[in-house]
Amino acid sequence: MPITEYFSPDYAAARQRFQAAAAGAGAALTSHLLPGHAGPSGEALAIDVARLGNARAQAALLVISGTHGVEGFAGSGCQVGLLADRLYEALPESSCLILLHALNPFGFAWQRRVNEDGVDLNRNFVDFSMRLPPSGAYEALHDWLIPAQWEGEARREADAALMAFGQTHGMRALQAAVSGGQYTRPTGLFYGGARESWSALMLARILTEVLPGTVRRLGVIDLHTGLGPAGYGEPILDGAGPAVRERAVRWYGPDVKDLGAGESVSARVVGTMARGIERVRPEVELTYIGLEFGTRPVMEVLTALRADHWLHAQARADAALRSRIQQQMRGAFLSESPAWQAAVYGRTADLVFRALRGLCA
Ligand SMILES: [Zn+2]
Repeated sequence: MPITEYFSPDYAAARQRFQAAAAGAGAALTSHLLPGHAGPSGEALAIDVARLGNARAQAALLVISGTHGVEGFAGSGCQVGLLADRLYEALPESSCLILLHALNPFGFAWQRRVNEDGVDLNRNFVDFSMRLPPSGAYEALHDWLIPAQWEGEARREADAALMAFGQTHGMRALQAAVSGGQYTRPTGLFYGGARESWSALMLARILTEVLPGTVRRLGVIDLHTGLGPAGYGEPILDGAGPAVRERAVRWYGPDVKDLGAGESVSARVVGTMARGIERVRPEVELTYIGLEFGTRPVMEVLTALRADHWLHAQARADAALRSRIQQQMRGAFLSESPAWQAAVYGRTADLVFRALRGLCA
């Protein structure tokens, strides 16, 4: 099957292909239905989980797609490919492979980066019983990011103000202020939420029910798109201390960028999933990377995100504009180019092999 056929045109097709490929591989398949929501064609929304290999594994690799909804088009394609190409035959005896499909099924189905509550899951893993991280840097930009009108004078003024901020403070500072994570604007970008999300609760269940209790070493590859050079996958390490860094570089090579050290195409962010996994399975030695594939230039991706958030902050919007913004979102996080899809799948498969070797060395 050509690589482009691993990549699906919509969430419903992606889910069906993943389930079929998992069944074909003889995987143990479990599903968690998102209550109270459906997709654009009325389809059920769910996190699907396939497990292959040793049920009493010492080491496990968890590959996640769709943490950021719409980015699941790419991640799902890679997972379907891993199953269709029988990559699980390379599993060492004492290991298992878990493929988590569509951690944020609502965002995937509706072509949004955020979930059913407008929440960025990778900012949602904070301790909500504690004081939340500061949102001041984002607050200063929110009204420019989401202007009163998307087309017209208000938008032109907002764009000029954002560019002026970038020129004064630097584009990295602009990126950090916008994308670092905020907890005060539910309709805004990179909103971390006010409580633990449904997806975070389900992830905790999967980490206790599907990830074997015998596992002592866990590798996570969380598949993302939208940042960096087109078609290149940057392995972004999220973990503290020299030991995990040394381990990640040993597994994946010198391309590894340390999120906390500010080396990555991503800004430093708060409330990431690695913290959630550490809380649920503290006894496990965790090596977590986000694998971030570039799509379009960063300002184009930001414009698509602003448009999407503007659209959803409106009570109603013109149908043609709505459709245009949805297409813009899809194009910002997935390329239809066969070369791009081959590069993304090949890089993912390569890093999966490397992780299995590292985990079982
Ligand atoms: Zn992402």
